[in-house]
Amino acid sequence: MAKPVLQAVRGMNDLFPEDTFSWQLLEEQFREVLACYDVGEIRVPLVEHTDLFARAIGDVTDIVQKEMYTFPDRNGESLTLRPEGTAGVVRALVEHGSLRGKTPRVYYMGPMFRHERPQKGRYRQFHQLGVEYLGMGQAAADAEIIALSARLLKSASVSADLQINSLGTPASRASYREILLAYLRPQAESLCADCQSRLERNPLRVLDCKVENCQQISTGAPRLSDHLDPESEQHFLQLQHLLDALQIPYTVNPALVRGLDYYHRTVFEWVTGALGSQGTVLAGGRYDGLVAQLGGPDTPAIGFALGMERLLALQALQNGMAPLPVPDLFMGALEEESVASLLQMAEDLRSRGVRTVTAGPAGFRALLRQAERSASRYQVLLGRSQLQGDTVLLKEQLGNRQWEGPWRDLPSGLAALGVDFPNA
Ligand code: ATP
Ligand code: MG
Repeated sequence: MAKPVLQAVRGMNDLFPEDTFSWQLLEEQFREVLACYDVGEIRVPLVEHTDLFARAIGDVTDIVQKEMYTFPDRNGESLTLRPEGTAGVVRALVEHGSLRGKTPRVYYMGPMFRHERPQKGRYRQFHQLGVEYLGMGQAAADAEIIALSARLLKSASVSADLQINSLGTPASRASYREILLAYLRPQAESLCADCQSRLERNPLRVLDCKVENCQQISTGAPRLSDHLDPESEQHFLQLQHLLDALQIPYTVNPALVRGLDYYHRTVFEWVTGALGSQGTVLAGGRYDGLVAQLGGPDTPAIGFALGMERLLALQALQNGMAPLPVPDLFMGALEEESVASLLQMAEDLRSRGVRTVTAGPAGFRALLRQAERSASRYQVLLGRSQLQGDTVLLKEQLGNRQWEGPWRDLPSGLAALGVDFPNA
């Protein structure tokens, strides 16, 4: 096939009704779960001042260094398509004074943009469901938000494994950074090119590099968990105790460091081996310093984001695709004169909740082909003679059930054949 002249931007996907149906189901299930935790939806802009992300995510992270879609607005201001949700949410809560003395719990759903190398499970426009708990600094909040994430995955009927770690405080991390650098520097030449370039900037990132040689070097590295400050250690132990009490299985993964700079203490991921190398479906952590850093009151916080594309891929793999609902009835008009009656009947059926498609005016054979393509359960054709009193034939497309009667009685015919009238 010749390449079409106009194509979507690389790494940005179109979703058709076959795809969006599973998305909508999932979103509905998620909203039900979130309501049980009294988490409300927040909607913030897709575009923010570039400075917000540079300050929130951190200048030395991969996202800010090379992944952002940044462009000058017409007045010269630098704007950026959001690469993640937390920065915008915190900006909004601070800007509207929603944090003083309060503990907001919010979620968002929507597209994020990162200029990454597109591959399976990694796109330039992708979608996240994110949840943020603000104003709660204790391990109880960490345990609850992890339980919430577990329930979301359960509602989608997918299974994945929970990994947790603690990054300590900025101070304990800074001293660990020096210990890690002392270990990594002599082996710098064996690291991959990416790790060599981020070694001095962000050595912790070397620990979660996916390149095999880097992973081997990481295995022998001194562990952050052995260099935690006492309070972070206590917090981490308390979290593990609560997860045990909630019977949520986890493994402590000392190599889990996350790509964003704003994390403090708890970080966690739900991972699967089923999706190849892009196996993290949900990731999050505590970010106690971020609110103050963005000019708000000192506010502890924890949150996570779930990658919708990866979750849907996992769901399709583990459970198959949700089948698209088929129309109840296909109605075809054989002549111009029958169109008005046909559309009136179709509107009447739709007002009672019957899923109906119409076609025509067209010839008999053309309508039968369209009926077949519509995959409707039943079909009926309306011509001049049926309007004048002949009976219509309502037929099952894939079976033998049928009903014959006057046109105006079509609804009773459908009911007799077992079609539901949800709004009757
Ligand atoms: P990764 O290590 O996979 O690059 P990350 O640390 O960049 O992930 P976060 O920013 O924490 O990821 O995003 C949370 C989740 O969003 C990820 O676990 C993943 O499911 C999803 N995600 C992140 N980047 C992409 C992308 N480019 N395409 C599709 N999904 C993504
Ligand atoms: Mg990434």
